[in-house]
Amino acid sequence: MRVWRAGGPRRRTRLPGVRIDLHTHSNRSDGTDSPAELVRRAHAEGIDVLALTDHDTTEGWQEALDEAERTGVTLVRGIEVSCRFAGYGVHLLAYLPDPTYRPLQRELRRVLDGRNSRLPATLQRLRDLGIGIEAEDVRAVAGETAAMGRPHVADALVALGVVADRKEAFDRYLGPKGPAYVHRYAADLETMIACIGEAGGVSVLAHPWASRHNHSALDEHGLARLTEVGLAGVEVDHEDHDPAKRAGLRALASRLDLVTTGSSDYHGTGKTGHHLGCNTTEPAQLERLLDLAGCAAAASGRHTPEVLGVSRR
Ligand SMILES: [Zn+2]
Ligand SMILES: [Zn+2]
Repeated sequence: MRVWRAGGPRRRTRLPGVRIDLHTHSNRSDGTDSPAELVRRAHAEGIDVLALTDHDTTEGWQEALDEAERTGVTLVRGIEVSCRFAGYGVHLLAYLPDPTYRPLQRELRRVLDGRNSRLPATLQRLRDLGIGIEAEDVRAVAGETAAMGRPHVADALVALGVVADRKEAFDRYLGPKGPAYVHRYAADLETMIACIGEAGGVSVLAHPWASRHNHSALDEHGLARLTEVGLAGVEVDHEDHDPAKRAGLRALASRLDLVTTGSSDYHGTGKTGHHLGCNTTEPAQLERLLDLAGCAAAASGRHTPEVLGVSRR
């Protein structure tokens, strides 16, 4: 077993043929698999390196780690942080930060509190629209999540027979243009990128050009500015990016010397068309990311999560 970690910014570990999926969700946020189930499924699907990146929480890390050690999957501990940039929502993948770093904890707590206070307001709006939905209906479908949010409201609407699936729930009620949409707190993107660095981790922008987000500010100028404050990479290969967007983003990342990743954004049965390993990250790109994380950890002096590497199965 190899160990990549803080001391190794110049160490090169070759990983030919390794399958790497760097963006997945468990039921600790809005996925449907428990962290252990997620890792077992990844193992069964032949994923060698898996990142668990639940929204705004590290709650699933330990369970996933225990299962990763049992199965031999290499786990990269991450978080998908809800941020705002130029007035619009942006998702930031934070890999390997020290989860005990107080400014990071405070900010994640604010985001989660914002999500929790949004829920009653959303339910009230739905009731104003004549839909009989209560918090218990949402809790009943949310399981053990630390971040009860709109996907769970959508599931409750499905369970109540109001809509057929999550997509219809978002299209008709819960999306930004829907009548039950409630604005909520998100972390400032540039501040969060800096915070992740101070916590000894690295930042990658999740699906920056997904059409469901407004991404006009994430052009070359915007990404250059984010690179200056410490952004390490961009998620290029994602189901929300068509081939033209992938090609454009890859070229831009190359000009800005950003790491490029590819991932499934797997949510179990909570999101269709995102099966594990449907997009993967090049081993050389993961090595760059781990090198940068090693540098950040060394510079911060924080106690950051290790990445236990196993040889290719
Ligand atoms: Zn996302
Ligand atoms: Zn995601």
